[in-house]
Amino acid sequence: SAKIGGRNAIRFFDPDMQVELNRRSTIEKALRRAVNSNQLSLYLQPQVDIERHIFGVEGLLRWEDPILGFVPPSDFIPVAEASGLIIPLGEWVIEQACEILARWKHDPILKSVKLSINISPRQFHHAEFVSVIEKQLEHHQLDGSKLELEVTESLLIEDIDITVSRMKALGKHGIQFALDDFGTGYASLGYLKQLPLALLKIDQSFVKDLLTDNNDEAIVTTILALGSSLELGVIAEGVESRQQVSKLESMGCHLFQGYLYGRPAPAEEWQRKIIDNKGFAPEPLNLKE
Ligand code: C2E
Ligand code: MG
Ligand code: MG
Ligand code: MG
Repeated sequence: SAKIGGRNAIRFFDPDMQVELNRRSTIEKALRRAVNSNQLSLYLQPQVDIERHIFGVEGLLRWEDPILGFVPPSDFIPVAEASGLIIPLGEWVIEQACEILARWKHDPILKSVKLSINISPRQFHHAEFVSVIEKQLEHHQLDGSKLELEVTESLLIEDIDITVSRMKALGKHGIQFALDDFGTGYASLGYLKQLPLALLKIDQSFVKDLLTDNNDEAIVTTILALGSSLELGVIAEGVESRQQVSKLESMGCHLFQGYLYGRPAPAEEWQRKIIDNKGFAPEPLNLKE
């Protein structure tokens, strides 16, 4: 376009950028088919307390295209957001989550496990969002008390009053909210106080070098203090070693999620493991020993 002048004009012809645009459009076309053709699955990853008791699982979307193979969420979620495909995709995730919870609600062990799913901002602000969830709860005869929704600070770019009223409407069903990737966004702390949240999820980027990086330690300390003063649970993401757990524990963090306790795997697999281990995560494999 004529408006792209000066130094920016160079970027327009940047071959790397063209490759990126092609890739996005390939992903978008393939993703459009994926929703209706059985290429998606919802993997689960356990969330544990200090006793290794599994109190929750996070649902993570997986997509295997016949030609592209496994495409990671970091590649297709942004494309889905930008194209609007996140609406049918997100609805599929909600359906799967409710189906799992309906299967679990009569099992003596699984019935106490919470399932959390990721909700993108565009999905949250879509006009039908609340009613899609309500329909699924009704269809599966569920109350929402075992369903948690993970949202990010970017929700707050929109009107705070609308965000809070939607959260409260869902909260009436017992649905809880977790703030994902906490610390990486730019929400003001004043906003945070207004949101009906249950849990803060410390972003894995702060956990990764926690043992060696003083800045990360300071950030984690701050998040834990914030959680305790706002009376929110705090869970650390991306936990890969026992040393990280000891450190986190000594800092006052008691909830963990990460490869140390289990990788994301198909729902049936975790379902069986949770039953076999009577609600506990298997003995952790220390990746860093
Ligand atoms: P997230 O919600 O913050 O999920 C955590 C990510 O960290 C997942 O990546 C998980 O596989 C990975 N992870 C868990 N434990 C460890 C660990 O110990 N070490 C490392 N290095 N990574 C770990 P994944 O599954 O690739 O998902 C990436 C992101 O894609 C998610 O980040 C979430 O933002 C988005 N996403 C995934 N599924 C959905 C979905 O159904 N809907 C939406 N809207 N977004 C989703
Ligand atoms: Mg998440
Ligand atoms: Mg996260
Ligand atoms: Mg993320």
